[in-house]
Amino acid sequence: MASSLPKKNFSSSKDHTDDLEWTKDINTNSFLTEERRLRSSKQCSVKNPTTNQMSQKRLNKFNIRVNQMTPEQLDEELKKRQLSTSGEIEIRRFRLKHYYKCELISGGENPLKMIEQHFEYIAVVDFEATCEEKGDNSYQHEIIEFPIVLINVQQQIIVDKFHSYCRPIIKPILSKFCTELTGIEQHQVDNAPPFVEVLHNVDTWLNERNLLSSLNKRKLAFATDGPWDFAKFLQMQCHLSSIDYPRWAKEWINIRKEFAKFYPVRRCGIEQMLKNLGLSFDGRRHSGIDDAINIARITLELMKDGCVLLFNDDIHASDPKFAALNEKKTEFNKNTDDENDLIVFED
Ligand code: AMP
Ligand code: MG
Repeated sequence: MASSLPKKNFSSSKDHTDDLEWTKDINTNSFLTEERRLRSSKQCSVKNPTTNQMSQKRLNKFNIRVNQMTPEQLDEELKKRQLSTSGEIEIRRFRLKHYYKCELISGGENPLKMIEQHFEYIAVVDFEATCEEKGDNSYQHEIIEFPIVLINVQQQIIVDKFHSYCRPIIKPILSKFCTELTGIEQHQVDNAPPFVEVLHNVDTWLNERNLLSSLNKRKLAFATDGPWDFAKFLQMQCHLSSIDYPRWAKEWINIRKEFAKFYPVRRCGIEQMLKNLGLSFDGRRHSGIDDAINIARITLELMKDGCVLLFNDDIHASDPKFAALNEKKTEFNKNTDDENDLIVFED
């Protein structure tokens, strides 16, 4: 493999900087998880890779080379390893480096295949809610669309979908702004069951698929784009409907957060994540089901590139302002210290 790569000069200070940059490139947590899994696998031939200085050196050299490759050379190397050549240059460089790193750890032929995901299924949710153009902090959002897109993790495909509109109770008439934003028409919510009934239907749907097994904690994880779907909309809706918050939504995979942790990019919305991956949004932005399908597409790309998806957000950790919702619901929209979660309606 090394002989086919472009020549490099390791002595310059630029190379040294690249070298250090490289260590930042890779998502340490997910890498350690991969490493742990690969090391416990029978196929793993490297005993102690992180302390193996030879491996580290090879890794650093490889990284420098990747940084020096032209886009054409990079794509050629990706193709040789049957990796995707889709996406922006930094994503493609990262993909190759990450692959090589996994290869060094595993000592295997096809390192990404040896990465064991934690969950069997991932259920992507994207709520749409009532809103107004100039809704203030005290605005009581009610969920009006509840889609679930189910991913079979091992097969790496979408295997099922749940979709329902919900009839809002407090403000039954949708604002013109809300209909224009979400594409949801008044008659669609008028003919829909109220949220409590939809939530019950969701539980039935999950149970029919045996996804809520209390014995197998690795069966299902929910995933959303950011913290708001669960920490804000679902929590507020449960409060308004005077029902318990569902236990399956207490922890989730925050895809936006994971994306920026895994790839060398800043935290961004659905359309930008897709653009980073060389993809474009399929369907209508702000339609709950279309948003969920596109978040699922991003989730699949993350897994294909070797990202191990674990819970990374929960109802308490997500944001102090959300956690305080039950106590003082009118303040739930206050700004947060986490600048990445500051703008709720950003894409
Ligand atoms: P999204 O998943 O980005 O489509 O947004 C979920 C919900 O957030 C929408 O159904 C609206 O209730 C609210 N929302 C999104 N963008 C805006 C906006 N620009 N102004 C007001 N509310 C918004
Ligand atoms: Mg949406």
